[in-house]
Amino acid sequence: MNQKIYEDYAKLAVEIGINLKEGQDVVISASTRIADFVKEIVKACYANKARSVSVDWMCEEIDKLKWMNEEEEVLSKVETWQEEKAKFRAEKLPCLIYVDDADPDAYNGIDLKKFAAVRKARYSVLKKYRDMEDNNNQWVIIAVPSKNWAKKVFPDLEDEEAVSKLWEAIIKTMRLDQKDPLKAWEDHIKDLQDKSNKLNEMNLDYLRYTSANGTDLTLKLLANHYGISARETNLKGNDFTANMPTEEVFTMPKRDGVDGVVVSTKPLSLHGQLVEDFKVTFKEGKCVEVTARKGQDVLENMLDMDESSRHLGEVALVPYNSPINQTGLLFSNTLFDENACCHLAFGAAFKNNIQGYENMSEEDFEKVGFNDSINHVDFMIGSADLDIIGVDHEGKEYQIFKNGVWAI
Ligand code: ZN
Repeated sequence: MNQKIYEDYAKLAVEIGINLKEGQDVVISASTRIADFVKEIVKACYANKARSVSVDWMCEEIDKLKWMNEEEEVLSKVETWQEEKAKFRAEKLPCLIYVDDADPDAYNGIDLKKFAAVRKARYSVLKKYRDMEDNNNQWVIIAVPSKNWAKKVFPDLEDEEAVSKLWEAIIKTMRLDQKDPLKAWEDHIKDLQDKSNKLNEMNLDYLRYTSANGTDLTLKLLANHYGISARETNLKGNDFTANMPTEEVFTMPKRDGVDGVVVSTKPLSLHGQLVEDFKVTFKEGKCVEVTARKGQDVLENMLDMDESSRHLGEVALVPYNSPINQTGLLFSNTLFDENACCHLAFGAAFKNNIQGYENMSEEDFEKVGFNDSINHVDFMIGSADLDIIGVDHEGKEYQIFKNGVWAI
């Protein structure tokens, strides 16, 4: 990829993504495959007066070897140094940049039950540090192509061509083809904020989804829900843009307020395996039935990981004509696929989707039915004919989406 694209992309991640302030520390998580690109991000951090920059390198192939060769109890144990590292991070709160180039099939063949048990055990130790960081740091996730990821998206192309095609799609959806990408992002963020402001003013009671594919779903919103788009503000008052690209306005459903049937419109890539053509039935907020043409066991394994995985934590509105959907590609990468069209997420909700969350105690979150889970799994439900009606607490109706796109 040419140097100019690398530089512009790194600048976007640092200036729009984490929105780095002078004197802040940065930790970049990336795979060893993309050291050249990471170098540009490091340069951009220093150019924006970072105090320190460090990189957490990882390698999927080696990680997979661990999964295949180590006992469950060894993998489950959080060693003292690992816990100290998590604690250090949670106390210091560096800005975090995640660069994703993951091979969607990297973990194919590992034992799903072992995977679930290990994740659960480690989560029980590390959750408190995750909670300390939550809404306190500035972070962003971006993605760059790797050979294996590109081959998944373009299986019929030669390696190099596949990588260059995937770069093309990322350049377009990241607005890196525009004359001034920073300005293009500022404009885009403003557009999205305009939608979330409108929705917040409506203060809707519930959403009703219908589509010819069989989707017929009523989704109650939390009484004091708050819709968020691209730019978030953390508890320290710093703005950041966590997902790049992003096309969504998202908020929190009421834990027990989801009823009806919803049909997936894109395959779901879960722990390196695809779940396809699935239908989910909800009763009083709980997913009581799933049927999938492919990967049903993968989906059910995830849903059974904890009690809250069967409830929804996120409802997101994304127009069907989004730049990502216009590429016509299945990226097999959540960052891109979730920004292609409307989606829901099983599992954990986001605390900042509640007005006044900063003054709430753990008991308060429990009382309002905040859905806390080990999982947060987005799945796509947007279609070209999706209709969404919003109804406020006085019974007034608003057309929110018409034929898959914004109607407000
Ligand atoms: Zn989302």
